[in-house]
Amino acid sequence: MADDADVIVVGGGLAGLVAATEIADAGKRVIVVDQEGEQSLGGQAFWSFGGLFLVNSPEQRRLGIRDSFDLALQDWMGSAGFDREEDLWPRRWAEAYVAFAAGEKREWLRAMGHRIFPVVGWAERGGYDAMSHGNSVPRFHVTWGTGPGIVEPFERRARDAQANGMLTFRFRHRVDALSIVNGTVDGVSGSILEPDDVERGKSSSRKVTGEFTLNAQAVIVASGGIGGNHDLVRQNWPKRLGEPPSNMISGVPEHVDGRMIGITEAAGARLINRDRMWHYVEGIRNWSSIWPRHGIRILPGPSSMWFDASGRRLPSPLFPGSDTLGQLQYIMSTGYDYSWFVLTQSIIKKEFALSGSEQNPDLTGKSWLMTAKRATNKGAPAPVEAFKSKGADFIVRDNLGDLVSAMNALAGDHLLKPEYLKAQIEARDREIENPYVKDTQVMNIHNARRYIGDRLIRTARPHRILDPAHGPLIAVKLNILTRKTLGGFETDLDSRVFGSDGKIMPGLYAAGEAAGFGGGGVHGYRSLEGTFLGGCLFSGRNAGRAAAKAS
Ligand SMILES: Cc1cc2nc3c(=O)[nH]c(=O)nc-3n(C[C@H](O)[C@H](O)[C@H](O)COP(=O)(O)OP(=O)(O)OC[C@H]3O[C@@H](n4cnc5c(N)ncnc54)[C@H](O)[C@@H]3O)c2cc1C
Repeated sequence: MADDADVIVVGGGLAGLVAATEIADAGKRVIVVDQEGEQSLGGQAFWSFGGLFLVNSPEQRRLGIRDSFDLALQDWMGSAGFDREEDLWPRRWAEAYVAFAAGEKREWLRAMGHRIFPVVGWAERGGYDAMSHGNSVPRFHVTWGTGPGIVEPFERRARDAQANGMLTFRFRHRVDALSIVNGTVDGVSGSILEPDDVERGKSSSRKVTGEFTLNAQAVIVASGGIGGNHDLVRQNWPKRLGEPPSNMISGVPEHVDGRMIGITEAAGARLINRDRMWHYVEGIRNWSSIWPRHGIRILPGPSSMWFDASGRRLPSPLFPGSDTLGQLQYIMSTGYDYSWFVLTQSIIKKEFALSGSEQNPDLTGKSWLMTAKRATNKGAPAPVEAFKSKGADFIVRDNLGDLVSAMNALAGDHLLKPEYLKAQIEARDREIENPYVKDTQVMNIHNARRYIGDRLIRTARPHRILDPAHGPLIAVKLNILTRKTLGGFETDLDSRVFGSDGKIMPGLYAAGEAAGFGGGGVHGYRSLEGTFLGGCLFSGRNAGRAAAKAS
């Protein structure tokens, strides 16, 4: 039987698009199969903030940041904490990926028209010692155009290949099985889903109208992670993070269902590090939801005070923006699955950014004028102000007593004692008069303001939380928000998948989130951020090039 193409790619997200365009560019025919409609091309990456981990970039150098491969690798290894036998390939991927981020990544993208917002963000700042978790320096480079801006070059290349007859899309085709003949993966089969013109990101119909089979020399699984499937998240929840949260909101659309991961594993692929995941603790319920249980992550600056459900301030160094999984672990140890930010209008105005392309119309729309208003405006950016007035998790009051009453009413647990919160806030406020202090969060604020990027648009001038001149007071109830899957299919550096017997499965490749962004878990336990889109680029490129060469 003649093959339908040289290579089949399962998934039209960023990893799948990158792989497919590399295959077509190598002169091979490729079919991209996706269960969603054409309107969802690009998968999660479209919704993303477009943040990319780059090392020693011109943007960093212009801001006076001294970065290097060695410093970045030190940070990566300190965050990953690789400690398992199956970390052999993830560790190799980590070294190769940091070299990519310090090397050709930026220029490769730039040659395709990709551009970067000039102020580099500082995510996951750590707060421990030099060999532990966190970015020693700012490295979060936001794509000019956010998520759509990172999808655009690859969609354009894919459309060109489509026009040349080298690439075919099969939308509304859901893969249900891999075909294996004599130990070699040679195709896929599945269900054709009824057409559905539902808006991008919304849940689409699962009604089956037919079946399909497709054959090729190789199959690349680029089907994303499990974050939209809360049952799977709970099932794989690691003991070290406590009990799985009873309430979670979703940071990803419903198509991030993990189903293809189960199908690929059942076909014999080796899934490793399934207990490693990256979920956020600063999730807020979207007042204008696109997908079910839609939550948005606050990307916080360093100044909000952070309290657990009973009103105890989170311990040092668990400050906003420091250590996502450390915070998750702490919060789950309290017996409650939520926590609180308490802040002022001055802080929200400068320090709250919301992750997601639709929450950043200035950057997504590439408007310099609107973006400049981040630094000059009296209020917070419009999407943040909208959450402040319409979001179910926001409370705004003129005095602390009223604020705490409303917090208790919102949580329904009545755990917060106004005097206890007041004592902690007043103690912190007394530390604000001097630039040299005891309170480590206040020290952090001073440290952040020594970086020009933070001083310009990310860190409010230090002030007392209870100073009415900086009011009103704001409290935000923070939920746990599912997002990324850090484990995945074990692969070599050519993205070839290992079977459960430890041998390469001929014909099978994996890329993007399904491959733990490379190797089955390039991040280890923790991420430095901006590393997921970059992981799709790198693993998608490796998979596409290797599969094209082999077929
Ligand atoms: C709001 C938001 C903000 C983010 N911000 C950032 C950021 O700033 N920086 C960063 O690095 N990362 C960010 N991320 C993460 C990043 O966008 C994702 O991890 C990445 O895009 C995943 O890409 P993927 O190609 O592996 O998978 P996906 O984008 O999930 O694509 C997988 C595709 O496979 C299809 N599929 C699945 N199963 C099947 C099947 N059985 N048959 C056919 N098709 C199937 C799905 O329909 C989907 O289209 C963000 C994510 C979100 C949601």
